[in-house]
Amino acid sequence: QDLLAEIRDLMELPAREKGLDFVIECDPNLPPSFYTDPMRLRQCILNLVSNAVKFTEKGHITIRVSLQSRAGQDRVRFEVEDTGMGIEREKQDLIFDSFTQADHSTCRQFGGTGLGLAITRRLIGLLGGHIELTSEPGAGSTFSLILPLFLEPNQTSSESLMTEGTESVETDNRHIGCIGNILLIENKA
Ligand code: ADP
Repeated sequence: QDLLAEIRDLMELPAREKGLDFVIECDPNLPPSFYTDPMRLRQCILNLVSNAVKFTEKGHITIRVSLQSRAGQDRVRFEVEDTGMGIEREKQDLIFDSFTQADHSTCRQFGGTGLGLAITRRLIGLLGGHIELTSEPGAGSTFSLILPLFLEPNQTSSESLMTEGTESVETDNRHIGCIGNILLIENKA
């Protein structure tokens, strides 16, 4: 809730000044806190919301936070949905590369460095998660950040009871685990 309040404080006004609805939807079953690097996570969400405001002329920006359980692992999902210009299918992978923009005419119109999404993808990877994109040119885009949900030992999420002791997830190149109050991240050999 603190994180979402900060995002609202920073981004609601710029969105409303463009005539956009600004909505935050939060799953009531989310635990009040989880282990992550809040500064980096905030930076990533702000990058996505700033882009959503920049590339949307009418409609809404919706930030949705939900719980996900896949293959026995609990995750938290942050979605940033806009009703903006969208991104062509063939550009959807490229925009995560450094200094890459989907459309050179919009780049002249809006400026920007083409670095925000590259940095966001890198940071989310370092936090043990990943980023997903669905987009329809002319209709809008949804960027999603999916992170492992590490809870304090006595906390529960609605979808599962975290067992006492260890909890771990596998990412491409890391083992990430939680023992009591200690978050362990180990590079795979
Ligand atoms: P920047 O916004 O500084 O150009 P980013 O890495 O944040 O750099 O974004 C790269 C490109 O991806 C943008 O230039 C734009 O073409 C496209 N893009 C990012 N977010 C959106 C969005 N919400 N809607 C449409 N296009 C987007």
